[in-house]
Amino acid sequence: MAKDVLVVIEHEDGAPRRPSLEALSLARRMAQATGGRALAVVAGHGTEAVAQAVASSGADVVHHFDHELLAQYTPDGYRLAITPLIRELEPEWVLMGHTYLAQDLLPLISATFDAPVISDCVDMEIDAEKVVFHRQPYDAKLVARIFDRGPAPHFATLQSGAFPADDLPQDHGGTVDAHTIDLSGDRIRRRVLEIHDAGESTVDLSSAEMIVAGGRGLGSKEKFQQLIGQLVEALGGAAVGASRPVVDSEWLPHDHQIGSSGQIVSPKLYIGVGISGAIQHVVGIRGSQVIVAINKDKDAPIFNEATYGIVGDAEELVPAIAQAIAEARQS
Ligand SMILES: Cc1cc2nc3c(=O)[nH]c(=O)nc-3n(C[C@H](O)[C@H](O)[C@H](O)COP(=O)(O)OP(=O)(O)OC[C@H]3O[C@@H](n4cnc5c(N)ncnc54)[C@H](O)[C@@H]3O)c2cc1C
Repeated sequence: MAKDVLVVIEHEDGAPRRPSLEALSLARRMAQATGGRALAVVAGHGTEAVAQAVASSGADVVHHFDHELLAQYTPDGYRLAITPLIRELEPEWVLMGHTYLAQDLLPLISATFDAPVISDCVDMEIDAEKVVFHRQPYDAKLVARIFDRGPAPHFATLQSGAFPADDLPQDHGGTVDAHTIDLSGDRIRRRVLEIHDAGESTVDLSSAEMIVAGGRGLGSKEKFQQLIGQLVEALGGAAVGASRPVVDSEWLPHDHQIGSSGQIVSPKLYIGVGISGAIQHVVGIRGSQVIVAINKDKDAPIFNEATYGIVGDAEELVPAIAQAIAEARQS
């Protein structure tokens, strides 16, 4: 039997989310290596364009469930759509990005197959025809190589940024297979009644393209706002991140925290100002394409991770750097 790989697609504002495209990119690699197909499933309502986009981006077949009760994610709705599909398709692997939704949904589905989820994977290798995933437990102090000895399907979630989606095609020409689903009666036991906007501070750093993050070295909430704000403005907009002491000091809400107990990020550009580079922070930024560190201590560990390191006092450096960025963007 061919070793197909099925990706459960998350979507937002009519487009697939980046963690799902990263999973699709890996699914294509795995499928190519094992002679299978990269498959995808999209559940939603009015999501035909999402399914088409995924088919163009490299999925060979996209299985699309469109139902008004799938308009918002519920664990029951998605489970009722996806579990029978897995039984029907018999993929070797089921992949998702390591998102909150995946952490809610995938164990629910995998449990019905009596299978584990290998979660938050950062790398994959094929060893003697076995797919082996790498995880980094204990704040990335170890690398664990893991494979699932049980029968297929196997389940895994992928750390954001670990498997870049840059290699996806734009005109793949995969097909979309529309499915009907019966969600009548009380088959969906938990429904979303209302969504409360948590306010402007809600940030999804995991899909930000540029992040400017500040640490305790900025000294105060006012200095943080002033200096980080200058860089954000000079860049023409960027998400704001923080180390844990910044959040503990209530300079920013927790959803800005990057690291092992915050968000894992994978922007094209991460700028860290006054951040020492403790391992718990660094594990959250390793997926960044370019890391710029500004720190007055030339021996700060963040410089071991940085693509570009600038040694000096943030208060003197940041205004000059912000001005240089602004001028470069205008020219
Ligand atoms: C279980 C656990 C989970 C954790 N989870 C996280 C997490 O998710 N995220 C996280 O970030 N941390 C986390 N931490 C905390 C982590 O260990 C560090 O304490 C924290 O990351 C340090 O934050 P910092 O770099 O802002 O502060 P510091 O370590 O105090 O570093 C401040 C840096 O600023 C520099 N500096 C000072 N003044 C200036 C200046 N004027 N200009 C330029 N540079 C200056 C200093 O040289 C120093 O390097 C966790 C810890 C534990 C135990």
